[in-house]
Amino acid sequence: MGQELGIGALLLRRLPGPKEHRTCQPRYLSMNKINARPRSSDSTAAAAAEASPRAPVRHLVLVLGDQLDRGASALDGFDPSQDAIWMAEVAQESEHVWSSKQRTAVFLSAMRHFAAELRAQGWPLHYVALDAPDNCGTLAGELAMAIAFYRPQALVMTAPGDWRVLQDLRGAALAAQVPLEVRDDRHFFSTVRDFAAHAKGRKQLRLEYWYRELRQKNGILMDGKAPAGGQWNFDADNRASFGAKGPGTVPPPSRFAPDATTQEVLALVNTRFASHPGSVADFGWPVTRAQALLALNAFVQERLPFFGEHQDALWEGEVWLYHSHLACALNLKLLGAREVVAAAESAFRAGAAPLPAVEGFIRQILGWREYVRGIYWTQMPQYQERNALGAVADLPDFYWTGETDMACLRDAIGQTLRHGYAHHIQRLMVTGLYALLFGVEPKQVHQWYLAVYVDAVEWVELPNTLGMSQFADGGVMASKPYAASGKYIQRMSNHCKGCRFDPALSVGEAACPFTTLYWDFLLRYETVLTANPRMGMQLKNLARLSTEQRSAIVAQASRHREATPALIRAPGVAP
Ligand SMILES: Cc1cc2nc3c(=O)[nH]c(=O)nc-3n(C[C@H](O)[C@H](O)[C@H](O)COP(=O)(O)OP(=O)(O)OC[C@H]3O[C@@H](n4cnc5c(N)ncnc54)[C@H](O)[C@@H]3O)c2cc1C
Ligand code: SF4
Repeated sequence: MGQELGIGALLLRRLPGPKEHRTCQPRYLSMNKINARPRSSDSTAAAAAEASPRAPVRHLVLVLGDQLDRGASALDGFDPSQDAIWMAEVAQESEHVWSSKQRTAVFLSAMRHFAAELRAQGWPLHYVALDAPDNCGTLAGELAMAIAFYRPQALVMTAPGDWRVLQDLRGAALAAQVPLEVRDDRHFFSTVRDFAAHAKGRKQLRLEYWYRELRQKNGILMDGKAPAGGQWNFDADNRASFGAKGPGTVPPPSRFAPDATTQEVLALVNTRFASHPGSVADFGWPVTRAQALLALNAFVQERLPFFGEHQDALWEGEVWLYHSHLACALNLKLLGAREVVAAAESAFRAGAAPLPAVEGFIRQILGWREYVRGIYWTQMPQYQERNALGAVADLPDFYWTGETDMACLRDAIGQTLRHGYAHHIQRLMVTGLYALLFGVEPKQVHQWYLAVYVDAVEWVELPNTLGMSQFADGGVMASKPYAASGKYIQRMSNHCKGCRFDPALSVGEAACPFTTLYWDFLLRYETVLTANPRMGMQLKNLARLSTEQRSAIVAQASRHREATPALIRAPGVAP
């Protein structure tokens, strides 16, 4: 499978860390000489020439790869006669984690399409292509050079999603002594200040209260002061498996054939990031706003009515099921969160989709998405270092190949490397669960999730991984660890039928590693978890195990760990 996915077996034993980039020199003199217009690849240079910004400018407006929205706050008051937009493709964004080919391609293609729209509008744009000969490889370095060239009175941007990026850009602005104005991101329903105010004085930051507050404030799924249908939450209706017959015929997903721009990007990614995980052979993500809107409409009509009921179900070989696949378009800001929520509510009000499905979907966006953003920005930068359970194991190497006998993991990782996509329960209760039970260092789990999904941006990925999936924040996000045995996967999927392991067994040749590691996890953390009232039932079951059973489980878990190799990191390379 690894070869099929374009991963050379030889390089899999080596986990590439962040690469060193050339030091960016403030080369404004040479830019003046050779660059009366933006530096870009050959194919974009001609188009760029028409709207070349002239130095000096009033505002240099920074647009990042996940801010592809012409209505963004950074562009308020944009005056093409005296301002310019800056966009840069840099290798750092694909190399600070081992970004999959799908993920890099989606960003680059969407950025290039957005740049073409800006040019068509006649807006001055300084666009640095990844393959421009003097691209220095980092956002801060490229920005420093642009500042030196355009000598702006101020830099303006919409609040970036990632803490790291904000620090880098602030550093570049400070070094050049140019003010940086960071504006609120109107894409979201709430600001980080709103979340901080909500969090103040609360012992626990649970989703439900924040979600209700946002529904009331924004009048979403409300009938006057009461929630539509008299209930805030239809979660209990949304946990069904598919049963023995499976999901039946699922509507085909919205996929978009790569146009010339995307094909150019795919070729570039295949060359420049040849050793990176996954493949772009099946690339079909929306990369323009027009495509994203088509995907949204198709979802609302074809999938939304069935969204809730089987939200937690898994089925071998079924990649798309009834999920929306919109996270990527949302996170790149090709779609607004408000318009997605409004489209879902309209379908309910028009009688085209039932309330439990619509409420379940809206809760993901208005609830979870706004909630994890609040957690991220109120907890960073310490949050990324959290490791409440003291987990230290290395990430097993099959996470980068899908080559494992465990059918559920093989399926989830295989589709992840092929499409850059897995749905929530695959992430939480298959790949995430195994990493939790195996005891993988949370930072390594985080780096994997950030690397492999097309929708992966740190503000949403980190809390989901560290907090919800790995319990590494000690309960800031989740009230208990999402620990379960192979029986959970058996109940929610058909994976176990085709697996050489048996989810009912925790010891012996056929023992399911999830089940073994589940009991081993409870044994390892028994003392710590006793204090958690929500773990009562699980610990009660643990108490029924005899001393002999406990020893056999510990021995089996230890053998499984020994037989599960990690990637060997290159000496001196950071994880
Ligand atoms: C370990 C782990 C890592 C994750 N990493 C990311 C990530 O990098 N980027 C990302 O957008 N989501 C992430 N999620 C959340 C969720 O799994 C994805 O948003 C979802 O699977 C994307 O597929 P979809 O668009 O078909 O979502 P759907 O199932 O159709 O859900 C609708 C939308 O709701 C939002 N949403 C759903 N669940 C969450 C959630 N838990 N947190 C925030 N938003 C949510 C997404 O925007 C999604 O598009 C992660 C979850 C886990 C457990
Ligand atoms: S038996 Fe265990 S490893 Fe195999 S598919 Fe089921 S849960 Fe996964």
